[in-house]
Amino acid sequence: MSPSHHTSPHPASSVPRHDWTREQVRALFALPFPELMFRAGLVHRENFDPAEVQISTLLSIKTGGCPEDCAYCPQAARYDTGVTAEKLMGLDAVLAEARAAKAAGASRFCMGAAWRSPKDRDLDNVCAMVEGVKALGLETCATLGMLTSDQAARLKQSGLDYYNHNLDTSPEFYGAIITTRTYEDRLDTLEHVRAAGIHVCCGGIVGMGETLDDRAGMIATLASLPVHPESVPINMLVQVEGTPLAGAPKLDPLDLVRTIAVARICMPASVVRLSAGREDMSEETQALCFLAGANSIFYGPKLLTTPNPERDRDMRLLDNLGMRPME
Ligand code: SF4
Repeated sequence: MSPSHHTSPHPASSVPRHDWTREQVRALFALPFPELMFRAGLVHRENFDPAEVQISTLLSIKTGGCPEDCAYCPQAARYDTGVTAEKLMGLDAVLAEARAAKAAGASRFCMGAAWRSPKDRDLDNVCAMVEGVKALGLETCATLGMLTSDQAARLKQSGLDYYNHNLDTSPEFYGAIITTRTYEDRLDTLEHVRAAGIHVCCGGIVGMGETLDDRAGMIATLASLPVHPESVPINMLVQVEGTPLAGAPKLDPLDLVRTIAVARICMPASVVRLSAGREDMSEETQALCFLAGANSIFYGPKLLTTPNPERDRDMRLLDNLGMRPME
């Protein structure tokens, strides 16, 4: 007898839907934990090999000094966090990092710059980096802030595969976290990226003091985009001294696991990334995240400016779980 025999009618569907209501998403969050995990596991298996994890490496190509006020971010110039503002890295240094990432097993190389939006001269430099990284045989991803449609088109031309631009949280809670831009601004950039033919990487952060309803609102917004983001990073807030969110009440790790499971069910064909916050997570929590349908991690010693578990520890964890990097 198959386990699904106990649940009436077949609860999982791998056909992406774009009409998720917040009510429906909330109902998923309200499921008993074993039932939620079971449904997420079914959807995961219908779309992916659950033993495989996509591995990305993230490099900060331009650190600190950002004019925006994201309450979680140590790179905002206005918060005293000990992060010093640096200039955009040079092409050769970026390519050296990309080669090292490839040698360490990464299949995608993400370049992050702490900008509100790139200036045209900066974009020329980033386009050269994208071309160079792509030529090494890596997938390319960038996160550079808001883009115009022209800028998105230029990035596409240089060979950019993915653009990361997170919605962070629900539309209602957004203003409590960021005041220097609007949710609408975010959606506009996502539209420009999509229209340029670049894959979208878009997710959010949990543990910022949001309610369960905000987490449901974030997933409902992501899952009702006209095309689901190909990559959905779910971050656990890393509290950094000096940012307004330092000292926020800690989230129960099971709430992160639930968020991942709900994202997996609502966006069945998307890669769900267990992203920032892994450093503080037990191996058991990470294992639960994989069971919930997470199938991508960042790999490497530093995630932008906060520490990331060491590569060896990651490899031991995957080994221990009988999992392997996605080809
Ligand atoms: S999250 Fe990005 S946009 Fe916001 S302050 Fe940090 S670097 Fe700037």
